[in-house]
Amino acid sequence: MISPIIDETTINRLRALINGAGRIAITCHKSPDGDALGASLALCHVLRRLGKNASVVTPDMPPKALEFVPGLRDIAVFTKHELRSRNILTEAQLIFCLDFNSMKRIDRLAELVEPLKAPRVLIDHHLDPDDEFDVTISFPEASSTCELVFRTLMQMGLLRYMDRQAASCLYVGLLTDTGGFAYSCDNPEFYEIVASIMRRRFDRITLYNKAMNTFSADSLRLQGYAISEKMRLFPEQGAALIVLSKEELERFNYSRGDTETLVNRPLAIPEIYWSVFLREDPDRVKVSCRSQGDFSVSDICNRYFGGGGHQNAAGGEVCGTLDEAVSIFYQVLADLFPSADINNDSTTSNQQ
Ligand code: 5GP
Ligand code: MN
Repeated sequence: MISPIIDETTINRLRALINGAGRIAITCHKSPDGDALGASLALCHVLRRLGKNASVVTPDMPPKALEFVPGLRDIAVFTKHELRSRNILTEAQLIFCLDFNSMKRIDRLAELVEPLKAPRVLIDHHLDPDDEFDVTISFPEASSTCELVFRTLMQMGLLRYMDRQAASCLYVGLLTDTGGFAYSCDNPEFYEIVASIMRRRFDRITLYNKAMNTFSADSLRLQGYAISEKMRLFPEQGAALIVLSKEELERFNYSRGDTETLVNRPLAIPEIYWSVFLREDPDRVKVSCRSQGDFSVSDICNRYFGGGGHQNAAGGEVCGTLDEAVSIFYQVLADLFPSADINNDSTTSNQQ
């Protein structure tokens, strides 16, 4: 039995908003991942089957590796299809905001969305959502936004509109936000949701392989290089650091998404329980952190990297040089482990 965790008042308000809206826009966070895209497209499929004119607008390009997610090819990408994105959003009578907790997470799209009069509905599982939404469905303990989209549809009595395509999209988010059902999925109801989705009879194995185990040759080589040459370990502090410069990324023909799961790899080492990946992007240094157990990387990202996320998976950025970002990492080590001798670590590689 999947319990109704969203209160009835919220469900009724959402029902009224959907009933009153012909045109509905759905957006999600920048650098959209499997959960953001899966949730947005699943909801879009269901709303279209309900007869709504629904469209997905993302702040920037989704990774190529997620092109297989049903419906992805006809989304509007703000940085690429600006006019179409503007039209969808300004004409929308209702706007869904999925998989983010603050308008800052949609980048330049926020300037467009914030002044709009259309009611905004948040469905999300990040901590501390802003209070700028007309309806807020926020459950940080949920595995994924896809889980919350499923629960919302279930409580609204709309599951019968969840077709094979919508189910496939939800499956992608459930998979990717839990590392393939590895973490954030201790609630038995999670598997009841999976069971319900599975009844739509999509090609589960193909989807699994595309979502979890498909990389380009360049991406695989880049990951191999990063682990072999660039992984620095700090066993005393349970930490790992991988830093990739612009030059190194170019050498491996980096394209968006190629390093998506790299930050998880050092956690395979028994002594390592938190891992940091610094990637030199054109305009900033992107920070990705992962951890196991009670060690909260969202606190670290919040305090040191102007970001946030979840306890075990968080991110942020440094608007500065790669060296500055590395220095901040060392500052984190020094602050969290004041008595440890950071220079005396036993790293697999001494390169940064
Ligand atoms: P990733 O490391 O895969 O980019 O992100 C991991 C988690 O941290 C995701 O849940 C994502 O939403 C969150 N996150 C990543 N980057 C940022 C950021 O710049 N700001 C905030 N608030 N959260 C982030
Ligand atoms: Mn998510």
